[in-house]
Amino acid sequence: MAHPQPRSSVAAIPAYVPGKPSTPREGLTTYKLSSNENPYPPLPGVVEAAHGAVSVMNRYPDMGNSALYAALSARLGVPVTHLAAGTGSVALIYQLLTAFCEPGDEVVHAWRSFEAYPIAITTAAAVSVPVPVAADGRHDLDAMAAAITDRTRVVLVCTPNNPTGPAVTQSDLDAFLARVPEHVLVVVDEAYLEFVRMDDAVDGVATYARHPNVVLFRTFSKAYGLAGFRVGYAVAHDPVAAALRAVSLPFGVSHVAQAAAIASLENEAALLERVDALVAERDRVVAGLADAGWTVPEPQGNFVWFGLGPRTPELTAVAEAAGITVRPFAGEGVRVSIGEPEANDRLLQLARELRP
Ligand SMILES: *Cc1c(COP(=O)(O)O)cnc(C)c1O
Repeated sequence: MAHPQPRSSVAAIPAYVPGKPSTPREGLTTYKLSSNENPYPPLPGVVEAAHGAVSVMNRYPDMGNSALYAALSARLGVPVTHLAAGTGSVALIYQLLTAFCEPGDEVVHAWRSFEAYPIAITTAAAVSVPVPVAADGRHDLDAMAAAITDRTRVVLVCTPNNPTGPAVTQSDLDAFLARVPEHVLVVVDEAYLEFVRMDDAVDGVATYARHPNVVLFRTFSKAYGLAGFRVGYAVAHDPVAAALRAVSLPFGVSHVAQAAAIASLENEAALLERVDALVAERDRVVAGLADAGWTVPEPQGNFVWFGLGPRTPELTAVAEAAGITVRPFAGEGVRVSIGEPEANDRLLQLARELRP
């Protein structure tokens, strides 16, 4: 009997493995360090704005995201027409590939990197061209430039790289962009931008302003703590941003999400203080790990990477026993989000007990 068949590429889509929730335990507070979420509860002003938006749930949201675009345009100093919002920046990856790739076109990206990339690429019936990250978890931008062919339409640069941690420098990005043909789009995925503290850090807005083929992807999910509301945005020149808007899901970004994102921008100073506190915790974790004999790739996001290979299940199990749920990548390593100080203490405690 003939059944309706999805496109052949659908069967090839890798599964997305979400970070597991923490397991409730009798007499022990457990912590979820598996999804790079912000451990702080929302700020009061943001909660109020979201509550206000709830009362008009019978109406469709503003499809044009106009108030959000106005707020972002003022905040970033970019034209409103250079913005495209989506249901998380993950949605923008899908939108970009839908808008720019024909079936069979190639998309170059680092690997291990964000697990949504190969999923979105395969969904678009494009071809994933993974380029291994260096031993220190950094993008190998030379190898990525060398991987560009006549079929390449898009290159994804994840900085800081999820899950390995390091960020690319402005000099390295500039040298890379000089080698990329002008018709190839370069996505700079800055999901963890607010956590970056390094010399020669990428200035995304200045970079996109100089390069019509550069697209910035940003999100309210991580530093801004709105992961559950699904709102991210792209910054790109007119034709690219217009294409991203054209293929977007109509009314995708909910009224509540738009209101919370705008309120987050208004409360940005308080939010960024929390980011500073998380960065201080990250530094404390890195120092504690070094004291215990562990070296991890330089983390510039809100997570650390243990490239343990076959010992991945061991660290995962020991962490679970200590009441912290981490994100294992089978056979490769473990990503641990920076969480509450108590959660980070437990990570350091088990790092002292385990052999590096
Ligand atoms: C978390 C993350 C995103 C964005 O997630 P959304 O919640 O969809 O905005 C994008 N890129 C990377 C590398 C991430 O880790």
